[in-house]
Amino acid sequence: MSTVQNPIKLICTNAECGKEFIVIPQEATFYEQKKLPLPDHCPSCRHKQRMALRSERQLYKRTCDKCKNNMVSVYPQEAPYLVYCTNCFWENIE
Ligand SMILES: [Zn+2]
Ligand SMILES: [Zn+2]
Repeated sequence: MSTVQNPIKLICTNAECGKEFIVIPQEATFYEQKKLPLPDHCPSCRHKQRMALRSERQLYKRTCDKCKNNMVSVYPQEAPYLVYCTNCFWENIE
């Protein structure tokens, strides 16, 4: 169950960005459970990093961590990252 109740406000550490971004409770709980640090880049910077890596990486069939629809990602299902489909990704950063 979720132990994080409120969205967490963080600042993107990308010097060219520096935007405030919100980690939603669902995502914070996920990082907590996986004993991972909270992200230090805003979703759009993380998205750009993923895009930059994409061409060198294999794509995996997996399900979206939010809506559970089938999707394709650079991360396999067992990767320690929350992976959202395009719909959920854009929903999340609003
Ligand atoms: Zn950023
Ligand atoms: Zn989804």
